[in-house]
Amino acid sequence: MAEYNPVTPEIISRLTQIIGPKNITTDPEKLEQYSHDEESDTQYHKMPEVVLFPENTEQVAEIMKVADQELIPVVARGAGTGLACAAVPIYGGIVLSFEKMNRILEVNAENMYMIVEPGVRTDDIQAAAAKAGLFYAGDPCSGDSCFIGGNVATNAGGNRAVKYGTTRDQVYAIKMVTAQGEIVDLGGRLAKNSTGYNLEQLIIGSEGTLGLITEITLKLAPQPQEVIDLLGIFPDVDSAIGIVPKLIRAGITPTSVEFMDNDTVKSVEHFLNEKLPHSERGHYVIIQVEGINETDLEDKSVFIDELCNSNGAIEVLVGDPAKVWKWRKAYLEASRHESLIMAKEDLVVPVDHIPAVMRVVTALNAKYGVQTRVASHAGDGNVHLNILKGKTPDAEWEQTLYDYQHELYKAVYKMGGKLSGEHGIGLKRKKLMHEFTHPVELKMMQAIKKALDPKLLLNPGKIFDVK
Ligand SMILES: Cc1cc2nc3c(=O)[nH]c(=O)nc-3n(C[C@H](O)[C@H](O)[C@H](O)COP(=O)(O)OP(=O)(O)OC[C@H]3O[C@@H](n4cnc5c(N)ncnc54)[C@H](O)[C@@H]3O)c2cc1C
Repeated sequence: MAEYNPVTPEIISRLTQIIGPKNITTDPEKLEQYSHDEESDTQYHKMPEVVLFPENTEQVAEIMKVADQELIPVVARGAGTGLACAAVPIYGGIVLSFEKMNRILEVNAENMYMIVEPGVRTDDIQAAAAKAGLFYAGDPCSGDSCFIGGNVATNAGGNRAVKYGTTRDQVYAIKMVTAQGEIVDLGGRLAKNSTGYNLEQLIIGSEGTLGLITEITLKLAPQPQEVIDLLGIFPDVDSAIGIVPKLIRAGITPTSVEFMDNDTVKSVEHFLNEKLPHSERGHYVIIQVEGINETDLEDKSVFIDELCNSNGAIEVLVGDPAKVWKWRKAYLEASRHESLIMAKEDLVVPVDHIPAVMRVVTALNAKYGVQTRVASHAGDGNVHLNILKGKTPDAEWEQTLYDYQHELYKAVYKMGGKLSGEHGIGLKRKKLMHEFTHPVELKMMQAIKKALDPKLLLNPGKIFDVK
């Protein structure tokens, strides 16, 4: 690992000249909020030496040149809603917050694209698209707080990925600043492109380790004509989760297929202090589907209703979207309410292995005597599994979690799955990344990092270690 220099008063003065005194802070009280993301376990928190709030790409480039000359690590930060400790400055140095680069630069309705700075909230992007009569498909559950730059840097998924894909599928092009402070445009507003390596897609999902994204050109889509949310309630995990591959195979391409197991339904019910239907034994599958007109939507709804019933559903309800999505989105807070310390797994398997992975989870819970809460983007094969520490003593917790995760990921990798479907590796999954990634694949990733950032300045110590 590289040796870094401290941020001296002389360096602070050079940085202040670049961005002005109102855009820099070393005040410990203000630095604190940049020492962590959504992870509440303080062992993963680390204070930066300085936080910078650049207002444009040129300032980002000048900052990066200073960091390059002075050997200072730079950690990009969006809204800090990440769940993998990816935005934590583990070597101190500079946190570069994009919160002041928050302008929507262009909405082009005729050609269906939008150009934005990285600090725009995802919900604001959806609202701006809707105002122009269009649709931005990216839809992470944290949309009311996360930034589009963070979404691109983590390749965020979300609720509509079954139909529209993840954030990488919504991006035409990015502007970025390299580790040496150069500015480059990658990608283009093109329907196809075979011009060399696909570098914008390499940067997307690289968690701030390869470059600083300062502008994004997003794809927009026509607004869906008709949308319905159905809530299938099932008596057991197998029948609930068993409908997922059947739905996908049926060819109706739902927008969302979300699963919450009964323990999670009860957890959300308790947290929101609100009666949820059939909460005493129901496992939920929320299915959102779009239609080109009312008849099409009706046909699809009838088909899904019959499919759920033939799979043993207790009841299939037409969900009030405001309610069902509130229940789904309360999952993380409800789990945290039960146990402040928990492991937030984000595993992904081929969709047809979703029932099998749920059986592994049930068996591991019994073996290790732990409780989990599950809310899954089931239509993408992506399972969010909160393993609650609860009352497990500290000394036992680390070992139990280690053993649980190793058995879990051995099974997941055997099924052709991976560690993270959408939250990224960050710091929290780094050890598992080293253990479960093929050594040649890891070597290729490390070679890319070293080629683009030889001084290891950009978000060092994340995803994997580099010697
Ligand atoms: C309640 C809740 C629900 C969530 N639901 C989802 C979900 O449905 N789907 C999902 O995918 N995630 C979800 N998340 C996780 C999180 O919101 C996403 O990972 C989100 O994309 C992070 O965006 P952010 O702006 O908060 O980024 P941050 O947490 O600030 O940063 C995340 C990573 O991106 C890097 N980064 C940020 N901006 C830039 C930039 N401009 N250039 C280069 N690197 C950058 C950081 O260095 C860091 O590595 C959820 C989180 C919460 C708390």
